[in-house]
Amino acid sequence: MIHFVGAGPGAPDLITVRGARLLGAADVVVYAGSLVNPELLSLCRPGCEVHDSAGMTLEQTTEVLCSAAKAGKECVRLHTGDPALYGAIAEQMAELDRAGVPYDVVPGVSSLFGATAALRCELTRPGVTQSVVVTRAEGRTPVPERESLRAWAAHGATMALFLSAGLLEGAQEELLAGGYASDVPAAIVYRASWPDEATYRCTVGTLAACAREHGVRKTALVLVGDVLGGEGDRSCLYDPGFAHGYRAAEGGDGPCT
Ligand code: SAH
Repeated sequence: MIHFVGAGPGAPDLITVRGARLLGAADVVVYAGSLVNPELLSLCRPGCEVHDSAGMTLEQTTEVLCSAAKAGKECVRLHTGDPALYGAIAEQMAELDRAGVPYDVVPGVSSLFGATAALRCELTRPGVTQSVVVTRAEGRTPVPERESLRAWAAHGATMALFLSAGLLEGAQEELLAGGYASDVPAAIVYRASWPDEATYRCTVGTLAACAREHGVRKTALVLVGDVLGGEGDRSCLYDPGFAHGYRAAEGGDGPCT
C-alpha cells in the first residue's frame, strides 16, 4: 500500500496523527526534500529506506514506490502542506492506477493555514468577503487566461498566492489592474511554522517592494485582501439575536435577528 501523506507546513508537530503513525510504520519513504522539514524523518523507524524526490523524476519515484509496494512494503510519499494543492499527486496516482497499485491520501495542514495562523487572521469575515481564491502567479507553469490574477482581483475577495514570491512585480501589477486599490492590505509569510518564520505586512501597492526589502524570493505565501486589515462584522452564528439548531435566540435588534 502507498500512502500520500501531507507533512504540514514545516513544524514537525503539525503533521496529522495518522500521517505520523504511517511514517513510523513505513518501510520506504519518498519525501519532497525541497520543502518538507527533514526533522519529520526522525519519526521513521530505524532501517526505513528514505528517498528525497527533489532530484528524481516522476518515472523514478513511481518505480521506487511501485516495486516496494509490489514487494509487500508499506510506503509513504510525503508532500509538503496538503498534497492536493500544487502537490503533483494526480500524475503519480495515474501512474499507480496504470500499474494496479493501491494507494490512499492523508490530508495535511496546508501552508495556507500555516500562514494564516502566523498572521492570526481569519480569511472569511462577514461584511468583508466570504470567499478565498487559491491561486498562483504565472511562472513556467501556465495559468489559464480566465484565471489570471487580474481576473480574480476583480472579485475583491481574499486571495492566497502560492509559488509566487519571486514573481511579485508582475503579480502586483495584475492585482492592481484587476481592481484592488493599492492600499488594500497584503502580507507575505515566509516559512510559516518553521523556526525562522517571518511575517511581513504591506499593501497590494507595496508587495513587490516588501519582498525585495526582506529578500524573500521563495517558500512564502502571499495573502491579499481587506480581511487582513482586521475589519469586519461579527458573525451571526454567535449573535444573541440569532437562533439556530443548537441555541434559542435571546432577543436583540442586530442585523442577525
Ligand atoms: N501542498 C503545499 C503547497 C506546495 S507548492 C501546501 O499545501 O502548502 C509550494 C509553495 O507552497 C511555495 O512556493 C510556497 O508558496 C508555499 N509554501 C510551502 N511551505 C510554506 C511555508 N512553510 N510557508 C509559506 N509558504 C509555504
